[in-house]
Amino acid sequence: MAENEPDPYDVALQQLKTAAEMLKIEPWIHEFLKKPQKALTVAIPVRLDNDELVNFTGFRVQHNNARGPYKGGIRYHPDVTVNEVKALAMLMTWKCAVLDVPFGGAKGAIICNPKNMSEGEIERMTRRYGYTIMDIIGPHKDIPAPDVYTNQQTMAWLMDTYSIFHGQPIPEIVTGKPVFLYGSEGREEATSRGVMFCAREAANKALNLDLKGLRVAVQGYGNVGWNTAKLMHAAGSKIIAASDSKGGIYSDNGFDPVKVYEHKMKTRSVVGFSGTEEISNEGLLELECDILIPAALGNQITKPNADKINAKIIVEGANGPTSPEADKILYERKILLVPDILANAGGVTVSYFEWVQNLCREHWPEEEVNKKLENKIVKSFNGVYNISQKHKCDMRTAALMLGVGRVAEAIRTLGLWP
Ligand code: GLU
Repeated sequence: MAENEPDPYDVALQQLKTAAEMLKIEPWIHEFLKKPQKALTVAIPVRLDNDELVNFTGFRVQHNNARGPYKGGIRYHPDVTVNEVKALAMLMTWKCAVLDVPFGGAKGAIICNPKNMSEGEIERMTRRYGYTIMDIIGPHKDIPAPDVYTNQQTMAWLMDTYSIFHGQPIPEIVTGKPVFLYGSEGREEATSRGVMFCAREAANKALNLDLKGLRVAVQGYGNVGWNTAKLMHAAGSKIIAASDSKGGIYSDNGFDPVKVYEHKMKTRSVVGFSGTEEISNEGLLELECDILIPAALGNQITKPNADKINAKIIVEGANGPTSPEADKILYERKILLVPDILANAGGVTVSYFEWVQNLCREHWPEEEVNKKLENKIVKSFNGVYNISQKHKCDMRTAALMLGVGRVAEAIRTLGLWP
């Protein structure tokens, strides 16, 4: 985190405060929700391939489980901090409530750079982490999933580790598994499909247009970014820019995101794709376009660049890409922003479907998963949009009101023990 960037946990507390004030939530419930219920820090000693031992630091933070078992991804990143994980766990609580899936919120992380590690090293680190947090997770307690720089393989190792210690296969311990290993059809693309549905609904409300021909810029080309580019392109939009940690590409005529993905697989970056100009990540955010999709990391749209955004709609594929100051500026500039806790909730929604399928030992067809996802996203989008119209507030505040309101209602009714 750069020095001038806001602390992510302060931002999360500020968002909670805004929602609590708008909803006039009882002070005790607001107080209750300010802290995660549990935040575990663990040491993860791993022997590297060269025989050296590195003792990584990992976290699992459980924010609230009033509405169901804790749920949330695990990220591997060199810059991740405990405050970021606490903030992301809180966001998961609101996200699950906005989508009305019966989960609470959690998040996990390991401070590491998986790009510089071998597959064997990542596997040993993952299994040791799974073992170390084993007491606090469980299929009805806390169900991890992928997040930044973790994937289906990571989930398979976690499932295997948990299953070995319990003497039987327990696929429902994690979601986001490979489809042939108890994973759900449509989970890999689910976050992006949700982003695409939100973009479609937003374009309809703000521009009275469908996705055909709209000019789209996507920041980030990981699972969320690249699948969003692919799905938006398939829906008829023109992808004019994309980027990854090494830089970005731009073409006024648009390009085929699948070909860009193939280029990235070969060269490890989108940069250098034929027929495009090179641009920076910052430059991508300021391009003139219809829809801007930040799908990389947090704190990308902040006070210094919020005035320079040239998009009509922003759909947050990433978690926390926009700062509260930027939110205000964008709202005043009448740019419609679909916030993370709604826009990228397709992932956890299909995680919920995967968990239900695992518990029933069922496997649903992809069309069924996608249709159920669409119904949930569209219903939540409309719910949030209507609150924003009624209370004359931005979509983030409206989504927080819906999410925090539902969690507060559960806590109020459950009461405080003892
Ligand atoms: N990591 C994803 C998120 O931030 C998915 C979480 C899940 O599926 O549990 O929403």
